[in-house]
Amino acid sequence: MSVGSILRSFRRAFPAFTALLAANANACLVCGGRCEPRQQGHFGSLCRTCFRGIPWITRVYCLICGRPEHCPDCVRRARAAFVLSRSAVRYDAAIRAWIAQYKYGGNEAFEPLLGELLTMAYRGLCAELRLPPSMPRRFDAVIPVPVSEARLLERGFNQAERLGGRLAESEGIPLVDALRRTRHSVKQSAKTRGARLRDTHNLFRADSAAVAELLHSRSRPDSCRLLLIDDIYTTGSTVNACAEALADALRQAAPTLRFEIYCLTLARS
Ligand SMILES: [Zn+2]
Ligand SMILES: [Zn+2]
Repeated sequence: MSVGSILRSFRRAFPAFTALLAANANACLVCGGRCEPRQQGHFGSLCRTCFRGIPWITRVYCLICGRPEHCPDCVRRARAAFVLSRSAVRYDAAIRAWIAQYKYGGNEAFEPLLGELLTMAYRGLCAELRLPPSMPRRFDAVIPVPVSEARLLERGFNQAERLGGRLAESEGIPLVDALRRTRHSVKQSAKTRGARLRDTHNLFRADSAAVAELLHSRSRPDSCRLLLIDDIYTTGSTVNACAEALADALRQAAPTLRFEIYCLTLARS
């Protein structure tokens, strides 16, 4: 039985309990303790202890994928199709539970909190790239990593699209749903690293109409800066396959265009 189905059956069995938790606006979203509304933005939905427990990535070791310790994956990859990837937090037990509550447990109250984590990662990325807040469109488009049709039916939403949409809206950047999955793949987290790298080959394709929209809406005539969004970064094979599909489509549609693809995820495992 998956974490998701356990959470779903719990919520079905104890609707009164979950409603009670939700009704108490002063209760920490995670532990039910007293929340600290003075905390910045949606972090106000957490108590002081849960807020302090957030495993922020404050220093990166691998400059490509943002891993906070030695990284064998980027060394093994001949060339990444993305410039670099950054994540807000480490994928520890707490963050795993928050994401599971949202993705599989259908607890939408976690969305603003996870969105806030992505915003923090975005601010860090902009600071690192020296893109000042005064710059009108720091990125030309926010592009979510797609989920398969089967996953979409089962879950009802694509978390990358929802969280990316929040970021896009607050930053005034268009959200362009430019990628499609060519097949349904087994859950990435259930596979070994080698299998992951093999299985993501040609897993994505770019939608030509969406790529045309993307080229049309860009803010600079000769260059384009794109931001891929996903929830969890593990080996980087998913975001790299997405970046490859996007890069191929851009090279075909606009051979002289200079473009850079960056990735942003909530958590780094
Ligand atoms: Zn708490
Ligand atoms: Zn790396």
